[in-house]
This record gives sequence, structure tokens and C-alpha cells, in this order.
Amino acid sequence: MSGLRERYDQVKIGLPEHVTLVAVSKTRSVEEIQAVYDLGQRHFGENKAQEIKDKAPLLPKDIQWHFIGHLQRNKVKYVVPFADLIHSIDSMRLLDEVNERAHRSNKVQDVLLQVSIAAEAAKFGMPVEQVREIIDSSSANHSHIRIRGLMGMATFTEDNTQITQEFEMLSDLFISIKADDSLSLSQFDTLSMGMSGDANIAIACGSTMVRIGTAIFGKRG
Ligand SMILES: *Cc1c(COP(=O)(O)O)cnc(C)c1O
Repeated sequence: MSGLRERYDQVKIGLPEHVTLVAVSKTRSVEEIQAVYDLGQRHFGENKAQEIKDKAPLLPKDIQWHFIGHLQRNKVKYVVPFADLIHSIDSMRLLDEVNERAHRSNKVQDVLLQVSIAAEAAKFGMPVEQVREIIDSSSANHSHIRIRGLMGMATFTEDNTQITQEFEMLSDLFISIKADDSLSLSQFDTLSMGMSGDANIAIACGSTMVRIGTAIFGKRG
């Protein structure tokens, strides 16, 4: 784990005060996560139901867990008891299930709607056109859901102009929804965009939360 502190400090130095750092700990051991926790990190992100369910109980209680991976409806029951924020809501059917499981867990589940912004990866996230519709019907039907914002992933490319365009599209959508009083959103404040390779562009485009794995933990094995 040599260089962990240096890498972590390097990531932190680049972050403005208003941007929350989620350390993406998928595939990392409990010991590695604890080491980053000991440096002061409190937000961690996992992308598999099995991993969040196995690791969360073994780590300090004041960690905030983020679920960032594609979520299947039959796995929602394993994720809701542990997740402080689910970033990857991509359909109304999934949101219905999260609402149901949150109800049973006696909690209000904070979520982000994942929006498809990348030219290449249209299979991740909901189309831009669906976002308002889902917010509307969720506020009418889901007493155990709080929609906190949006999440998106840019195309994996060296073309910074394209990445910028995609993040700006999401940022514009976020701002217009936030300003729309007719949507009656109680706390719409989170724009999750930016990973190790494109966090700087995302922040310049208005990100409030970055999800960083490799730049903190090193290359995944
Ligand atoms: C793995 C992952 C990240 C972090 O990627 P790095 O390139 O390691 O920073 C961020 N977001 C999601 C959804 C991921 O699956």
C-alpha cells in the first residue's frame, strides 16, 4: 500500500471545498478501505451488491456508503440497508423496488437518477427525456425516496471537448431541474460526475461529487 497517503493527498489538494470525494473501493479489501478511512476519508463507493453487503458491516459505522454500480431489482434488498446514497437509478421500476425496500427498512432512501450522456454507452442510465417524468411520478408515489440529484458518466475518450460537452449537458439539466419549483424537490443538491480520468473537467462543469478509485488506491488488479 505504499504511496497511499501521497496519492490521497494529491487527490484532496485538487478538490474545491464544495465537492464531495467518494473513494471508489470496489475490489479493494477491508484493510485497504480502513487505511484510507484512517487518512480521514468517510465516503466510499461500491458497485456490487455482494461487496457492499459483505464489507460495510466490517468497517466503522460513520462511513457513508455510496452504491454506484448497475443495480438489478432482485439485488435492491441487499443494498438498501447499507447505502446512504444510491447513484444508479435508471428506471421507474427500479425506483419502485427501492421505495418498497426502503419502506421495509424504515428509512427514506436518498438516490440520484443516472442519466445517459455518453455517446458510446447508451445502455447506462435513463434518457435525458425521462428524467422529469420520473421525478414527477416518484414524488407522487414514493414516500420512502428522496431524489437528491443526478449522476452521469462521460464517454471514455481522450477527446476533452466531447467529455466537456457531455458533462455540460448534464450540468444544464441539473440546474434547470433544481430551479423548477413545480417539481417540488425538497433537497436537490448533488451532481455526481467525474472519475480519476475526468474529474477536473467534471468539476469545471459544475460537479458537486466525484467518484475516484484508481487515483487513490492505485490500479485495480
Ligand atoms: C469504477 C468506477 C468509478 C471510479 O473509476 P476510477 O477510474 O478508478 O476512478 C467511478 N464511477 C463508477 C460508476 C465506477 O464504476
